Amino acid sequence: MQTTQTETQSETILTGDRATGPLHLGHYVGSLQQRVALQSIHQQTILVADMQGLTDNAHQPEKVSSNILNVVADYLAVGIDPQQTTICLQSQLPALAELTMYYSNLVSIARLERNPTVKNEIHSKGFGRSIPAGFLTYPISQAADISAFRATLVPVGDDQLPMLEQTNEIVRKINSLAGGEVLLECRALLSNAPRLPSTDGKNKMSKSMGNAINLGASEQELRAAVKSMYTDPNHLRVDDLGQIEGNVVFTYLDAFHPDHAYVAQLKEQYQRGGLGDGTTKKILEECLQELLKPIRERRQRYLDDKAQLIEILRLGSQIAQDKTEQVLIDVRGVFGLNLF
Ligand code: ATP
Ligand code: MG
Repeated sequence: MQTTQTETQSETILTGDRATGPLHLGHYVGSLQQRVALQSIHQQTILVADMQGLTDNAHQPEKVSSNILNVVADYLAVGIDPQQTTICLQSQLPALAELTMYYSNLVSIARLERNPTVKNEIHSKGFGRSIPAGFLTYPISQAADISAFRATLVPVGDDQLPMLEQTNEIVRKINSLAGGEVLLECRALLSNAPRLPSTDGKNKMSKSMGNAINLGASEQELRAAVKSMYTDPNHLRVDDLGQIEGNVVFTYLDAFHPDHAYVAQLKEQYQRGGLGDGTTKKILEECLQELLKPIRERRQRYLDDKAQLIEILRLGSQIAQDKTEQVLIDVRGVFGLNLF
């Protein structure tokens, strides 16, 4: 059920982000670049998952509501084109919530608790004994999202594979009840980009860990972030032999510098001795400033015209509503609930 390369035949793609913060460099290499490439080949929908954002933020809903337009501005700023990609808002698609209710009856609590992604997240979020029911059941709501768009290809990191497995289990149960193919199974389009670490190299860069370099970071913020990057702690003098492994500056140069041969040369010189961290950081900073400058400017222009952003989201949500309601009617029919 997995595939690692971009398919050439047009498929239906569903992807999205929780609106829990502005998007960052991790998203740029991990998902956004790929989406820009995919939009001209496939039918792509991006769901801004505000309701899913609430599953662990209901006590501070403004963390989600205040980020919806930021995320849309991030999409547009990196080149996602609303003419090619449908950008829609989860809370404006009531069919998704209704499908979640129907699907909930097909999944046991034990199955949800066994989902390895959910298990890890419950642990890392420290819910203790008060896990919100909405959090435990979010794989069901993801199954509703994916199936409601009849998505066949879902770009994910490997940590999300258990979600797709659960989606396909639900799809098969509905189809078996229906005695025919009402819903479509999906495949993962695995991203081959490694997770981008935070500047301290301790964790992956993440919206909720406060360790991110956002796409809208100012020139000064970016400079400070690169300056603070973790390098080789034993590389004290320029002439010292340096280590590449775990050296965040080189991880970023690999991810962002367009000239791979040049980066290979720098690595050699660093390992041999004779290249200082100040120099490698300067090279990286230049490359990131060049990348982010136009993105930051476009992002700001979009945010200066919120009415336009809202209109893009409203139009995308209208298109999405039509699609998802059709699937809802089909699923109601599977349960015989189509009297009128
Ligand atoms: P949160 O902290 O709210 O979970 P996040 O920063 O982890 O936010 P998500 O919205 O969970 O971001 O991530 C969505 C997708 O973005 C991931 O499935 C992955 O494809 C990509 N992504 C996020 N962080 C990184 C990263 N550090 N490196 C590469 N890809 C990333
Ligand atoms: Mg995450």
